[in-house]
Amino acid sequence: MDENNLNRWLNSRKARKAALTADALFEGIKNHSIKDLSQGITLLESTLESDQKIAKELISKCLPLSGKAIRIGITGVPGVGKSTFIESFGKLLHKEGKKVAVLAIDPSSEVSGGSILGDKTRMEEISMLPNIFIRPTPSGKSLGGVAQKTRESIYLCEAAGFDVILIETVGVGQSSTMVHSMVDFFLLLMLSGAGDELQGIKRGIMEMADTLVITKADGDNLEKAKKAANEYKNAMHLFPPSENNWIPKSIICSAYTNFNIDLVWNTIQQFINHNQENGWLEHNRQLQDNYWFEESVRETLIHHFLDNPSSKEYINDLKKQIEQKSISAIQAADILFNQLINKNGSN
Ligand code: GDP
Repeated sequence: MDENNLNRWLNSRKARKAALTADALFEGIKNHSIKDLSQGITLLESTLESDQKIAKELISKCLPLSGKAIRIGITGVPGVGKSTFIESFGKLLHKEGKKVAVLAIDPSSEVSGGSILGDKTRMEEISMLPNIFIRPTPSGKSLGGVAQKTRESIYLCEAAGFDVILIETVGVGQSSTMVHSMVDFFLLLMLSGAGDELQGIKRGIMEMADTLVITKADGDNLEKAKKAANEYKNAMHLFPPSENNWIPKSIICSAYTNFNIDLVWNTIQQFINHNQENGWLEHNRQLQDNYWFEESVRETLIHHFLDNPSSKEYINDLKKQIEQKSISAIQAADILFNQLINKNGSN
């Protein structure tokens, strides 16, 4: 690139960045522009303070337009068939004229350097369809931080007119619990014949599921899948009844043959209707807002206390004292807390 071209390129880049106002992005998102939606999500994932300022403004503008989509969480161990299921499920929704956004929470992406949706071979077919928006997991230091960004992305997607938001987790650990607290319907995918322990499925995760889907119910696996679905159905009857009076379903399906993919969608719609009528859907979203408010307070406090350069030295000193066993970890936390409270109080 010669100097003139380089200057032209730099100027156009500058102009593009300058055009990134919350108003301009909101206008685009309102008019269903995928480019502006992506740009908005990039801003809210950015750690730059100037980007965060625009992102916060943008979220406030989008909030009144949000809330109309069905939010679905999809979890299960790696290899259970999540991305293949989403591919098949996404195609069905697309056929029904729905606009579908697929978001992900993968806290491990920072360590592995990749992301679950970043792998181009995953969900190849639906990623080509119009009205399907696939966004890889945001990166971040803490699971709470990553999840918070995903939650904010939901608002932007809803303002951009998406009807169904799918949120995938990479595994069945804490990220599942996070996703559970931002969706209306929680789907747990399971393998037949692998045993709960093998799949690392804790009872708590099963109790959170609104429906359990046994994947890969095709070929030789079909009978095994049927048997497993029955066993889970019986096991789930022993769980305490849920607040919304919904009895979790146990369904077998195959993303290869598309068997029962429509049944999963019908079940979700049935669930949504049931909980719209009894008011639980709205109530649950309010509970989730409260949860996320508290979670944000926690994140902000941690950021304020631990990442604050002015407290670093003090924290290191406390760590030394813990190592020397002159104070306990809990005592050190108390001391730090009191020190910061007094400092803020005296400001
Ligand atoms: P994820 O890690 O949970 O996203 O799982 P994938 O969707 O990548 O699937 C893991 C493996 O299971 C892949 O080799 C898929 O081809 C296979 N698989 C996924 N769905 C089905 C299915 O419905 N039937 C069969 N037989 N295999 C499947």
